[in-house]
Amino acid sequence: MLMSLLLYLFAGFFPATSTPQAVPSVKLYIFDCGMLKSGNPDVLLARGVTTTDMSVTAYLIVHPRGTLLWDTGVIPDELIQPGGTTEARATVRKTVRSQLAEIGYKPSDITYLALSHNHYDHSANSNNFAGATWLVQKPERAAMFPDTPPPNPSNAAARFSALKNSKTVLLDGDHDVFGDGSVVIVATPGHTPGHQSLYVNLQKTGPIVLSGDLYHYPAERTLKDFTPFAALGNPEKETASKAKIEALLKEKKATLWIQHDILLYAQLKKSPAYYD
Ligand SMILES: [Zn+2]
Repeated sequence: MLMSLLLYLFAGFFPATSTPQAVPSVKLYIFDCGMLKSGNPDVLLARGVTTTDMSVTAYLIVHPRGTLLWDTGVIPDELIQPGGTTEARATVRKTVRSQLAEIGYKPSDITYLALSHNHYDHSANSNNFAGATWLVQKPERAAMFPDTPPPNPSNAAARFSALKNSKTVLLDGDHDVFGDGSVVIVATPGHTPGHQSLYVNLQKTGPIVLSGDLYHYPAERTLKDFTPFAALGNPEKETASKAKIEALLKEKKATLWIQHDILLYAQLKKSPAYYD
């Protein structure tokens, strides 16, 4: 089995003194990948989060030089019944494949696949995109495919297992996906070892940052001591990553889209509509 692992080392993609650049025509589509009930709503309610349900989303970025799929949902397409399917705390009504087809794409048309991180609610359809070039932080891939695999792989691991043999670009930090600064993976470790966020500079909409699970609810940004998910990962790294993203948002005057923020999600245009 031939597997090409390229190591890309990037010190940083956002030059301190940026010269004005023409922004290429980039489109961003939001896919409906369902809804997720909170596993522990009480700690959220206690800090004033009134809506603890979470949206589950995937995003297709269409750039003149190719396409990038960001995250792949919480339940595999193959299990979605007409009228919807519930598995544990997740309910999904639409397949990723059908939403791609609606705007004229097949899984084999996807140039790049990137997951914000490997958790089950972001990676369920990854095997369908094993033909794309996978953009993953080195420590994330190491966590997903340990040298000694567990005897009983989790559902999530089974659902991304095909990525092991994908053409892979191993990242060690930020990564300019199409080489023009319009779509940049931003390393934000903490929630998982190689968690990442996505900066997308859109001509009309302006710059957007997709959070991954750096935050789950807007209250985590305003209440600095409110870190209900920190215990899942590395709290120190998560705090540093939050500071990195907050600085980026300020510098670029970018808007943060918290992917699990179901109230924000309700206000945004969903595919086949798009942002450009
Ligand atoms: Zn999540």
